[in-house]
Amino acid sequence: MASNLTDRLSRLVKTMRGQARITESNVQDMLREVRMALLEADVALPVVRDFIARVKDKALGQEVVGSLNPGQVLVSVVHKELAATMGEGVADINLAAQPPAVILMAGLQGAGKTTTTAKLAKHLIEKRRKKVLTVSADVYRPAAIEQLKTVTRQAGAEWFESTPDQKPRDIALAALDYARRHYVDVLLVDTAGRLAIDEALMAEIKELHATLNPVETLFVVDAMQGQDAVNTAKAFKEALPLTGVILTKLDGDSRGGAALSVRQITGAPIKFAGVSEKIDGLEVFDAERHAGRVLG
Ligand code: GDP
Repeated sequence: MASNLTDRLSRLVKTMRGQARITESNVQDMLREVRMALLEADVALPVVRDFIARVKDKALGQEVVGSLNPGQVLVSVVHKELAATMGEGVADINLAAQPPAVILMAGLQGAGKTTTTAKLAKHLIEKRRKKVLTVSADVYRPAAIEQLKTVTRQAGAEWFESTPDQKPRDIALAALDYARRHYVDVLLVDTAGRLAIDEALMAEIKELHATLNPVETLFVVDAMQGQDAVNTAKAFKEALPLTGVILTKLDGDSRGGAALSVRQITGAPIKFAGVSEKIDGLEVFDAERHAGRVLG
């Protein structure tokens, strides 16, 4: 088991006590440790490189004051930069649209879309006092439609029936029409995922996006995916104007480096974190806290 970054850096800087500044000559070894820590947390390599370059810029010339040593100063720079990269204050769901506000859920199969759709429904009902309707456009897996029905009930939201013989676009239009006529505030649209990115899937979700004109297009990604999260995030970002990310399965034992990769690649804020299989296992993403976890 690797020790945490603070420990490693303090070991390294034992030899550099009394140095008053972070300089080119003392920063290299420390940055190597930061790089290792990020790679161990499963942050993708290109993302690590960019990050290290930014940290180096910010760290160089920083004065080492009081009882701190250069390692401690660097850890603080890294922590701040991580939190700043992953977060930008509170990023709740945007509902500034003529109701029904549509939220489109995107992501690979198994990422946690259906579960998260219901969690979000519950959040919007309880925290934002909204009337929420869910619908599944996953016509490939009848079980997925049933699953959404079950979890929607648990969330206390309304569910709009769809069937596998329908086209996703027709489902979307029917649900939208129903939502308008029944004064629904928010329509959550769960979509089909695949085990891997494929063109047909992307074409379908693009069509759904064009049909629904959603106020939020949320990319749901499994934090345990680690390095693979990068490719998935790239593909979804190219297909859709993502407005937010939901990182699921943060209750697992990953260090959650995917957060940094996905944030950097999509450019979209991480809005929520899934922290259990249960319907209430959704938290507003806390970048500051997550930075601590990534650093180990
Ligand atoms: P979908 O295929 O993207 O719709 O994924 P599902 O919603 O069916 O979720 C796949 C699996 O991940 C299910 O067993 C969920 O219970 C589980 N899951 C989803 N979110 C979380 C989470 O935040 N934590 C944990 N531990 N499990 C989750």
